[in-house]
This record gives sequence, C-alpha cells and structure tokens, in this order.
Amino acid sequence: MRLTFLGTSAGKPTKERNVSALALEFDQDNKWYLFDCGEATQHQLLKTSLSIGKLAAIFITHLHGDHYFGLPGLLSSKTLDKSLAPLTIYGPKGLNKFLPCILDISHEHLGYELTIIEIEAGASFHFDKFSLKVLPLVHSIESFAYYIKEQDITNKLDEEKLRNNGLEPSQLYGELKRGNDIVFEGKEFISREYMLEPIKGRRIIIAGDNSDPEVLSSYLDKLDLLVHESTYTQEVYDALPTKFLHTTAKALGLSVQKHQVKNLIATHISARYSKNSDYTAQDICDEIQNSYKNNCFIANDFDRFYLSRDRELTRI
Ligand SMILES: [Zn+2]
Ligand SMILES: [Zn+2]
Repeated sequence: MRLTFLGTSAGKPTKERNVSALALEFDQDNKWYLFDCGEATQHQLLKTSLSIGKLAAIFITHLHGDHYFGLPGLLSSKTLDKSLAPLTIYGPKGLNKFLPCILDISHEHLGYELTIIEIEAGASFHFDKFSLKVLPLVHSIESFAYYIKEQDITNKLDEEKLRNNGLEPSQLYGELKRGNDIVFEGKEFISREYMLEPIKGRRIIIAGDNSDPEVLSSYLDKLDLLVHESTYTQEVYDALPTKFLHTTAKALGLSVQKHQVKNLIATHISARYSKNSDYTAQDICDEIQNSYKNNCFIANDFDRFYLSRDRELTRI
C-alpha cells in the first residue's frame, strides 16, 4: 500500500505546501485513488509518476474549499489528456450541485462518464482490492473519515508442501485454490490441507478535518495507519482569538497512544509552521511524540510512504 501526499497545508497553500490531496495505491494494481482534491492538485500530479488516466475514483472528505477546489481543473484536464475512462467521485451532499453547475456554466463537455455519489456517515462501498466505510467527524461542516480495509488474501497455496508431495505448479493449482480436491497420479490432494493461513488485509483511516480524534475511537484500536490532521500545536491553538474545529498535536498524540495505533501520519499543517518561522512542523511532531510512542511522521508534499504487510510504515 503506497500513499503519496500531494498537498499537506491547512486552509491555504504556502510556498512549501499545497492544500489537501492524497493518492493511495494498492500492491499489484494498475490504478490509484485520490482522497481530497485541493486547488492545483493537478499541478502537483505533474510532478509525480501518477497519471490521471489511471485514477479510479476520488473521495472528498468535506466541502471546505481547501479539500475540493481542484476538482473542476482536474476533471477538464482528464478530457484534454484523452483519458476517457469513467470516473466516480464520492463526497458530501452538495457535490452534486457544485460540479454540474461549474461544468455547465463553463460549457465543459467531459466526454467520459462522471458519476457523483453523495455519501452519508455509515455508508459502505466495495472495490476490487478493498472495502471502504464512511465515518463521521467533528468539524464546522459535515466532514468524513474513510475507513479502508484491504481484502484478506484467503487463497494462497502452500506451494512448497505441494512440491514436496509431488505436485509441481500447473492448472491443478487453480483447482485447489478454488477449493476443489484433485487426484494426480493416483494421489489425492485435499484443497484445505494445502491452503496457507489467510493474510489479513491492512486497515487504514484517511480522515478529513476533525476536532476530536476520539470520535473515531471504535476504529482506532490497533489500527495499522491513521492519516489525520494536526493543524496546530496546543500552545498556538490556546492563543487563537477564534477557535476553529481542528485537532492539536497534543490531542492527536494522546488519542493514538491510547488506542495503540500502529502508525500515524499527521497532515493538514497550519501555514504558520514553516521553515523560516518561529514555529516549524518539527514542533508538531515533538508534541505528538510527547505522548505517542509508535511510528509517527509529519507529511510533506510529495512524501511517499509504503505500508508493508508487516504493518511497517516507511518513507520511500
Ligand atoms: Zn482543511
Ligand atoms: Zn475544513
């Protein structure tokens, strides 16, 4: 499972960070999925190896502009790229008003089938490599997290055992994988005796803006990876004259430690944390790690991460 951060800033772009967008790819797959599509996401894509032609679906967490203003441009460029495969966009109610309106007044003829699915908390969807559940968050407008569960691998054969018993790879392996017993050179092979233990699919959450990580608590226990906003450090948040519904690094660290989340990537970083400022992203990292003792990263634009089947997350 690979994640590529295309935008990691909160609210507005900075010189170092664009607004929210994240690409997700599964192993041995020739397509990818986009989570949020802030303004200029298509510009960010040009600097990666991801192509719009292989984009299978888009999931929008909520309808604050920094999470979806990049949609019209990206959808239009898909047409100009002559990439005419159908595309589905999932997101909160309102998307089906915004997109048809902007496409209509721009006289934009996409030339491919665009499906817009307005979602509600609790909805589930199934894809060939994973299932996805929509979870509600706490924010100033309706905001969602996507709980993604990769399919378990249940039909892996113990090829070494088969070879040791005289059966080399052939189409008979396919029969055994389908659960059919076979006879080869007078010897019976019982399918279930040659199946390996199922390999459990990875479980991750990609969350939109949220002021309370604990709202996800029933999904956080030993979760393999949480991608969550961490807009401010506590000190900065406490000094804000107006409070916005975002999570502080302190609150996030306490929550993921409590639930023993295996890996954390914090993103959606306020513009005030930058290289030459009084505050840097390292302050956010340090504050999370005051509580959280597992694997933690602060996402930067164009960071790529790999989550292995052993649940180890590495920056690649
Ligand atoms: Zn935001
Ligand atoms: Zn927001």
